Amino acid sequence: MSCSQVRTILYDYINAYVDEELSTTDHSAIQKHLEVCAHCANEKFQIEQIGNTIHNQFSYSAPYGLKENIRHTITGLADSDINLSNVAKRRFAWRWTYYVIPPVVTAVAAVLLIFSMMPTQDEVMMHNMMEQEIVSAHVRSLMEDNLLHVESKGPQEVKPWFNNRVDFAAQPEDLAADGFSLKGGRLDYLNKHTAASLVYESDDHIINLFVFPTMEADMKSFKNFQNRGYNIVKWVNKGLEYCAISDISLDELNKFARVYRKKITSPN
Ligand SMILES: [Zn+2]
Repeated sequence: MSCSQVRTILYDYINAYVDEELSTTDHSAIQKHLEVCAHCANEKFQIEQIGNTIHNQFSYSAPYGLKENIRHTITGLADSDINLSNVAKRRFAWRWTYYVIPPVVTAVAAVLLIFSMMPTQDEVMMHNMMEQEIVSAHVRSLMEDNLLHVESKGPQEVKPWFNNRVDFAAQPEDLAADGFSLKGGRLDYLNKHTAASLVYESDDHIINLFVFPTMEADMKSFKNFQNRGYNIVKWVNKGLEYCAISDISLDELNKFARVYRKKITSPN
């Protein structure tokens, strides 16, 4: 079974979990998994967000007296053979459509909205490929004694090194005060483009922060993933994608991303 097939099944399960349609055993199995898997927890969060959006925008309350009208209509139709003329019958038939069409239209609109918001098969595949690329680049940097192309004695020395090597602004920042020391930088190749890798260290653990151009829209919040035991924190800002990857805890890595993003967006 391919990775994307597994993901699709997983997606169905998380959907069913959110809608509370799972058996008790499955429900608690998924719940346990969500506690440890950042990727699926994020998936669940996205599904809940979609649900909330639809609920807020399309919630439709039945018109006053609908229930009564339906009951009368049903009783009326049941008696109609004896009591009602053909004209009256037709009028009742029309009243049915009056009540039935709006909810049906709403439901169809909601379904279309869900489909338009769901990532396409291509997008899911692209995303999975990127995740693999990031992990491979991280592992390569650790294995081949290829971690640093420029060693840091401070951001002032790393920044100019990137200047002639990438066609965007790589922003190495000193984050030592927050426990993340800048070790240096490296060039990588990601998303069919040269990427800047800013290398940080936290308690003997290496963090690679990959920066490369992207067509993706800006992201207000971080996205968290787990792949082959590594944690990944991703965000997009003004045409650049930032991917921090490490074996430190997801909390620590999110902290790193927060500290770094704050540093590059604040004027000083
Ligand atoms: Zn998972």
